[in-house]
Amino acid sequence: METIKNLIAGEWIDSSQGDLLEDRNPARQADLLAIFPSATSENARRAVETASAASSGWASMPWPKRGAILHRTSQIIDRQLDEFAKVITREEGKTLAEARAEAERTRDIFLYFSGDGWRNAGDVLPGANEGQLIFTRREPLGVISVITPWNVPAAIPAWKIAPALVYGNAVVFKPSSLTPLIGMMLVRTLIEAGLPPNVISFVTGSGPVVGEELVTSPYVAGVTFTGSYEVGSRILAQARAAKKRIQCEMGGKNPLVVLRDADLDLAVELTVKGGFGLTGQACTATSRVIVDVAIADSFVERLANAAKSIVVGDGLDPKTEMGPVVSQDQLETDMHYVQIASAEGGRLVAGGQLVTEGSLFFEPTIFDHVAPGMRIAQEEVFGPVIAVIRSRDFDEAIEIANGVQFGLSAGVVTNNLHQAFKFADAINAGVVKINEPTTGVVPNAPFGGFRNSSANTFKEQGTAAAEYYTRTKTIYLNHRSN
Ligand code: NDP
Repeated sequence: METIKNLIAGEWIDSSQGDLLEDRNPARQADLLAIFPSATSENARRAVETASAASSGWASMPWPKRGAILHRTSQIIDRQLDEFAKVITREEGKTLAEARAEAERTRDIFLYFSGDGWRNAGDVLPGANEGQLIFTRREPLGVISVITPWNVPAAIPAWKIAPALVYGNAVVFKPSSLTPLIGMMLVRTLIEAGLPPNVISFVTGSGPVVGEELVTSPYVAGVTFTGSYEVGSRILAQARAAKKRIQCEMGGKNPLVVLRDADLDLAVELTVKGGFGLTGQACTATSRVIVDVAIADSFVERLANAAKSIVVGDGLDPKTEMGPVVSQDQLETDMHYVQIASAEGGRLVAGGQLVTEGSLFFEPTIFDHVAPGMRIAQEEVFGPVIAVIRSRDFDEAIEIANGVQFGLSAGVVTNNLHQAFKFADAINAGVVKINEPTTGVVPNAPFGGFRNSSANTFKEQGTAAAEYYTRTKTIYLNHRSN
């Protein structure tokens, strides 16, 4: 068992007064991975203030040297992929293959952003007058608070911390209370790679206790949050009132639209991957399948058979295809929505039960004949629960797909290029997938939702990340001789 410490002012410390919390494996409750401090608001205040004190020194380091630290971080993760993957599986529950993919993605994110140490410092613009040169320079903001969820516990922190650091910001990182160990591993790796330890603070514990300081402190310049709509909306309001630069990525109710001409095998494969991969606990998970009525019976039959054949179990077991739900709270949410969907008239065609009584192993679950207005078709469940909605034609499918408050990821399955582009034009979502699962993103492409899936301020990842993590100064210079 590990004892997780917090990193404040360059020192690994216990919380000043807070309790110790437990970090357990959702597949085996007896497996206690770690205990970790429930930091106090005083701890959070020191973390923010000391990061602020370190920020100007870090900002003045040459960009390529900052990039080199991220590059070394990527190399260390590459050597430790197995260790990273195992901790992700034990702490969050996803299968070892899914955890390994996340560890590789985390490595790639550091590698990708290490390159920003060599580019993207600003632009040169034509001057309007003789001898005039105009150029812009990207500058760091100062201290960035990074607040992250449990479901992608290494890659999401990485895609915030890596660009924050390479552009010269100091960071205060608060991981989810369900996944503090992988968070600490990430911070340790950065320090091992040469990051001055006072440039990043690591604070664990209750969101509301630690979070307020991280969002409202005068020492914080920007807040980047990924998590639920409820918490994100609160943080958004607090950060706006405190005049912080804010980026929030939140929930989804992602549709996969299966058109009449679709390859049904592909449609089933994409639904299973998008809906039951990561136990349905992905912000981009397929939670609605909107299928043309002409092919719906055949599609649902195949999908139900595929769902029933999924092996649910401990992610460390190589035979496991879907891991447990992350926590008892999340399990109760999933079961609650099963009851709601049944009461509303959805027809349960697969799952709906625990695999083993007293465990967090929940069956892949499908409701057919769901109407677009039902709660199961409108609200984020964040579990392995799919609602199948039948549509009469393309236009109705789009209307249903867009008829929710969220707009994160949306997919279409079709062999018709024209329909695919019509879909991309009409869909109200920040990520569009054509014949691909709604899940899965890469570090070099901008990522973020529309509508209530996002604060709609700045995108994450890719070249878009620079916009959030820097401010631009415009410099006018005149070099005429007289
Ligand atoms: P939560 O919103 O519950 O928590 C996210 C983070 O916020 C955690 O670190 C949490 O800490 C912290 N927090 C909680 N309350 C506060 C507060 N008052 N002030 C500051 N911080 C706070 O989300 P989950 O961790 O349950 O993650 C699941 C959600 O994340 C889903 O809705 C999912 O859609 C969304 N998500 C969105 C993604 C996207 O890119 N759009 C990607 C991945 C997930 P603590 O753990 O201590 O409560």
